[in-house]
Amino acid sequence: MNYKSYSEKVVFLDRDGTINIEKNYLYKTEDFQFVPGAPQAIARLNTSGYKVIVITNQAGVARGYYTEADVLRLNAYINHKLAAYKGHIDDFYYCPHHPIAGVGKYKIECNCRKPKIGLFLEAEEKYSIDKNKSWMIGDNKGDILAGKKYGVRTILVRTGYGSQLEKEKFRQFDLISNDLTEAVFMLLEREGDSGQAEDYSDIR
Ligand SMILES: [Zn+2]
Repeated sequence: MNYKSYSEKVVFLDRDGTINIEKNYLYKTEDFQFVPGAPQAIARLNTSGYKVIVITNQAGVARGYYTEADVLRLNAYINHKLAAYKGHIDDFYYCPHHPIAGVGKYKIECNCRKPKIGLFLEAEEKYSIDKNKSWMIGDNKGDILAGKKYGVRTILVRTGYGSQLEKEKFRQFDLISNDLTEAVFMLLEREGDSGQAEDYSDIR
């Protein structure tokens, strides 16, 4: 077992609509497109001492649109693309289930589909997470509700479904930002990481 002797600050990131442009049931690498500025924002989190962990619902697996192997392939591709920006995602956790639309073994009422917090708990088995210094960033209600329930601060991004949620008067996030770039700026500023914040201009 992994020996957890110190606590780590983590930024949990939703994937689709937060890191990359939301496309329904994305799984092909050729359809993948970063939200502008997202790779640099992730690299900034890396250099600021955060673990970056993706927590993503992949109901497309449950629905039979693509396979878990496709999810793993796309996740690896994201890290491959991030390397060009000297950025990386430390870990990816995904939920392949759906309680109603799922096919076969994937049709279950699981504990890992956001807004449930099973994926965060899975991450906890590997990382010693300091929740007081950790954040969840996403574009969906489930991201914010899960982050809140798990006990970290949350930022809604207006990319993906975020701006629609804002119009619907959803207000359960701690902070709201235009995109991942701004979200990272805001959280570093909140954490008093002023040196990093001053360097912000170069990541636009
Ligand atoms: Zn699940």
